[in-house]
Amino acid sequence: MMTRDEACDLFRSPDLIGIGMAADAVRRTLHPEGVVSYIIDRNINYTNFCTEYCTFCAFYRPMGHSEGYILPKEVIFQKIQETLDLGGTGVLMQGGLHPDLKIEWYEDLMRSIKQRFRIHLHCFSSPEIVNIAEVSGLSLRDTIARLRDAGLDSIPGGGAEILDDAVRHRISRLKCSTQEWADVHLEAHRLGMRTTATMMFGCGETIEQRVAHLQLVREIQEETGGFTAFIPWTFQRENTSLGRTVKEEATAVEYLKTLAISRLYLDNIDNVQSSWVTQGLKTCQVGLRFGGNDVGSIMIEENVVSSAGAHHRASEEELRRIIRDAGFVPRQRDTLYRTFFLN
Ligand code: SF4
Repeated sequence: MMTRDEACDLFRSPDLIGIGMAADAVRRTLHPEGVVSYIIDRNINYTNFCTEYCTFCAFYRPMGHSEGYILPKEVIFQKIQETLDLGGTGVLMQGGLHPDLKIEWYEDLMRSIKQRFRIHLHCFSSPEIVNIAEVSGLSLRDTIARLRDAGLDSIPGGGAEILDDAVRHRISRLKCSTQEWADVHLEAHRLGMRTTATMMFGCGETIEQRVAHLQLVREIQEETGGFTAFIPWTFQRENTSLGRTVKEEATAVEYLKTLAISRLYLDNIDNVQSSWVTQGLKTCQVGLRFGGNDVGSIMIEENVVSSAGAHHRASEEELRRIIRDAGFVPRQRDTLYRTFFLN
């Protein structure tokens, strides 16, 4: 098992190819069948109203803003129907932190979706769950249990950014703390629910802070085994206020190095995602030799990252082709990384 110091040394090492090959060896041990997976799903951003003012976010609108919205249920249903029509298996539903929406609103939404559709609901990242709990006067455990009972299937890892309170204080001062992010995942895992872990890097953090993030994720996984995947991606600066101080986005080299070190450090998490949405198809393809075994979603719709300047697009056929060209077998998966019942 790699120590924190060893991980920091790797971040400082110029041996990009050596790090990539070591990560590729871990990927081969965990996924010897040479399959690279992807999912067909859709992001639905149910509201963009938010009270948190994160400096890296170009998506939110303050309360009362003329461009703010809460999607009507009928619109959400229509988006789900379109997802199913395109062969999709799940939706990733996330939104801003709305100060007036109590748990009953979310329960009603989950229930009314499940009454109409057979679809996996991967919804509400930690900051949203913390917000729902606060607004509703509930514990985190009761909040998650009630959402689960209403139809929530799993929880996305969003809102992690860098799990270090000094970084969070600088870029997302009002949003949930490192401990709160961890508590949501721990409680969800204890309730038998699976979740993912993410990391948004390149927002001015130190190498040590990045490694502290990996360490916390590894510790949670040691305790519960509840994470299905780790998804690192880079801060996109366009249209964000943080982009005025962090002038340089992480390069493809930095992305690949971070991806590979994540694969090496988190050898207790099955899946690591190589991101085409933020990196483009070519870098994503290289990432499959730097530890990645999954390319994420055919994004039918994605508002948050594209508001901040990531404009890559791909069809299912294109994704299958880049996977095949890289020497792997493409396979559709569901939100829980299961492929056995799909093509
Ligand atoms: S990242 Fe999320 S919590 Fe932060 S401002 Fe944007 S929508 Fe709100």
